[in-house]
Amino acid sequence: MIGILKYAISGALLTLVASGAYAQTLDSSASVQGCDSLRVAVADTLRKDSVVVNPTPEPVHPVRTLGKVAVIDTLATGNDALRIILFNDNTWRYILSEEYKNDPEVFNDHWNTDATHAYNDVDVNSLPEATAIRLVDSLESYHYPFMGRITSRYGPRRGRPHQGIDLALKTGDPIYATFDGKVRVSKSVSGYGNLVVIRHNNGLETYYAHLSQRDVEVGDWVVAGQQIGLGGSTGRSTGPHLHFEVRYRGQSFDPERIIDFATGDLRRDELLLRRRHFSIYAKFEQNFDDEVEAEKQEEAERKAAAAIQYHTIRSGDTLGALARKYGTTVTRLCQLNNIKSTSILRIGQRLRVR
Ligand SMILES: [Zn+2]
Repeated sequence: MIGILKYAISGALLTLVASGAYAQTLDSSASVQGCDSLRVAVADTLRKDSVVVNPTPEPVHPVRTLGKVAVIDTLATGNDALRIILFNDNTWRYILSEEYKNDPEVFNDHWNTDATHAYNDVDVNSLPEATAIRLVDSLESYHYPFMGRITSRYGPRRGRPHQGIDLALKTGDPIYATFDGKVRVSKSVSGYGNLVVIRHNNGLETYYAHLSQRDVEVGDWVVAGQQIGLGGSTGRSTGPHLHFEVRYRGQSFDPERIIDFATGDLRRDELLLRRRHFSIYAKFEQNFDDEVEAEKQEEAERKAAAAIQYHTIRSGDTLGALARKYGTTVTRLCQLNNIKSTSILRIGQRLRVR
């Protein structure tokens, strides 16, 4: 094992301790330089209550590409939450142990390897109004799927919803996994052509369509930056391009919401995904100002909701007296309660007064 490890570390992705010292910790599970910070990182990843999203996010740069690699071994680290995976191209990486993944349910719930879309029975209205999604952290990295000119954006196109983004390429260009995850679909289907769908630890799914070649199979674990296939023009396609989609519980949203395809960077490390983002009309660019407007609107609605006040009718109450008491008018009271000024008030009846 030490031999393999030395071999692997010679092409290491991360700078760490020398192979000898490191191999020792594999056996003794003694504390090793960097381990405490890694434990902290794991604790970060395990936090489930994180709904605070940084309002001024820093872009996240892509990790280096891994090419077409296969996992040849997985090693313990002395920290139950962490494993080391060794690839056949002499590189290695830390990964979270499966039982420590954000949500092990992610890879069980609606895990359908035959269906292109696995969440067909999930109604968009059943999803929370907002979901905080951790895109990357110290153990979950990112790589763009492909860097190319955008030839078609997310949104309605010729009367049909275009649920992804099209990036021009040359047939044979490598396509990369965007985040770590597990391959749910790898097959040829009408429309999408050669399609790979990866489900990620954070619950997102990414779709890579029209491929000329698929390099991964259903059930494969992949890491960000790993080559998963080659670009092409299979399926309903008029020329070589990558059709790339991002979905959450089956609902697509604009991939530009998370990836800046001009720089290849991820726009942020955490995403507050709102239900309204699933609308085919919710384009990222157009939505940026709308976003601010929508926040204001929601704030106003919250305030309005908080300001609503009721009065329970007692003996002797009249609309005129209530209007004076609550500083409003009889007309307004009638509007709020959908009654007439001549309506008879019942004792115990709840009237909205604001
Ligand atoms: Zn497309």
